[in-house]
Amino acid sequence: MKYIFMTGGVVSSLGKGITGASIGRLLQLHGYKVNMIKMDPYINVDPGTMNPFQHGEVYVTADGAEADLDLGTYERFLDIVTKKANTNTSGDIYQTVINKERRGEYNGGTVQVIPHITNEIKKRFVAFDKQVDITIIEIGGTIGDIEGLPFIEATRQFMLEQKREDIMSIHLTFIPYIEGAKELKTKPTQHSVNKLREVGIIPDMIICRTQYPINDSMKGKISLFCNVPKEAVVEARTCSSIYHVPESLHEQGVDAFILKRLNLKSKIKFSNKWFKYVKQDTKHYKTVKIGVIGKYADLKDAYKSIDESLKISAMEAKVNLDIQYISSEDKNLIKRLKTLDGILVPGGFGMRGIEGKIAAIKFARENKVPFFGICLGMQCCVIEAARHLLKFKNANSTEIDPKTIYPVIEMLDEQKDVKYLGGTMRLGNYESDLVKGSLAHQLYKTDKIVERHRHRYEMNPKYIDMFKKVGFDVSGYHKGVLPEIVEIKNHPFYIAVQFHPEFGARPTKPHPIFQGFVLAAKKKAHK
Ligand code: GLN
Repeated sequence: MKYIFMTGGVVSSLGKGITGASIGRLLQLHGYKVNMIKMDPYINVDPGTMNPFQHGEVYVTADGAEADLDLGTYERFLDIVTKKANTNTSGDIYQTVINKERRGEYNGGTVQVIPHITNEIKKRFVAFDKQVDITIIEIGGTIGDIEGLPFIEATRQFMLEQKREDIMSIHLTFIPYIEGAKELKTKPTQHSVNKLREVGIIPDMIICRTQYPINDSMKGKISLFCNVPKEAVVEARTCSSIYHVPESLHEQGVDAFILKRLNLKSKIKFSNKWFKYVKQDTKHYKTVKIGVIGKYADLKDAYKSIDESLKISAMEAKVNLDIQYISSEDKNLIKRLKTLDGILVPGGFGMRGIEGKIAAIKFARENKVPFFGICLGMQCCVIEAARHLLKFKNANSTEIDPKTIYPVIEMLDEQKDVKYLGGTMRLGNYESDLVKGSLAHQLYKTDKIVERHRHRYEMNPKYIDMFKKVGFDVSGYHKGVLPEIVEIKNHPFYIAVQFHPEFGARPTKPHPIFQGFVLAAKKKAHK
């Protein structure tokens, strides 16, 4: 087993997840099995109840953990399926230790950060032992943060306990450009590496995020002051697509250096097929306009996986995408909808912006614009169809109007007496059976699918037959009763799903519904 620790310095948001996952992808291209673990120093037990405005999308693992959106990056770059063990927070580590203490498992001993918290952290570093060859561990936050200290201390201890050739440390830093002096500056990197060494971690490689190329003499300076060999000072310049990062690191010999440092040899012939696929010449591609009609229009990170799934499908469909995030409360909503080739209504919680989403769905249905609804987006489709096709006045979801006389979206009985906000939903993988001959069946080309869920409310099965009569069909069921997918006839492309297909797309392997949607939008754009 080999372990690579990724830390970050100077500022946050440098892309530790993307850099780590790119390294993982390179090691896979050398024939190694790789997994990644995120260590998040914040106290929240999981990001499930964190505000998407602050934190971006909540990612859902196959086994139902609510996680940081970095896990989506891991899945897409490494083509893996993440689990609870891929994501850890200070809150959940402390909770485990405190629960043990309450159960008397420490026999009344004093429970301390060292060794109890650090031991619990170290236990989580080895979660994928025997399943993979290399685990990449991303320590969230920036070096010097108070919250990060137990993780850094656990890393130091762990590195001491392992053989040197089995562990390595990579530090990602930032090289700012000073406009006045027209100069890139290495000083913050030097300070950051000093901070890291103060807590006992000596980096083996320094990856420098920069807007501009760093020259040889700067590399020499960083090497000298930070005590790493010059070939281990790497430039990570901003790329036009995150999927170009692996190739750029490969060109600088990052994978060769890591393999040598970990005493590994390439197991297979290295192929650059993946690099080529993600780096297409898009100049002559047509542009297709997709609108995502949601509540968090100003924060793209809130729809990270949807954004990536669309881009992944665009690579396969050979189109350029113009993805517009439109607030469902936008005063010019209908005017903006008229310019689109495809309309997507994503998931969400609460009543804000609901009526705009319903209006967008009505527009897509009546004007035959390719349409794709996800989770709350599907629930809004059901409400829209109830109000306008079945003429159920004020039909609604009980999440929005608990007293509606047409509760077309409702909570299952067993979910009704839930007390806590976190962890009370239908979360993670659930199966559905697809109805033969449906659009869903055509897209998936299979009878049974498994997709990830994150919701409390369901389409009320009581109304299925009535909907069918007006051409609004259920085309996927969980256990034969719970509606999972709806679609309508006589429309170029209209499908909405209760689950989250956006967690299933990977470069070179787009998700079938996203693919169908982007192709339908392409067809409309080219008309
Ligand atoms: N708010 C809805 C529910 O809880 C939909 C959730 C979602 O879109 N993820 O069922």
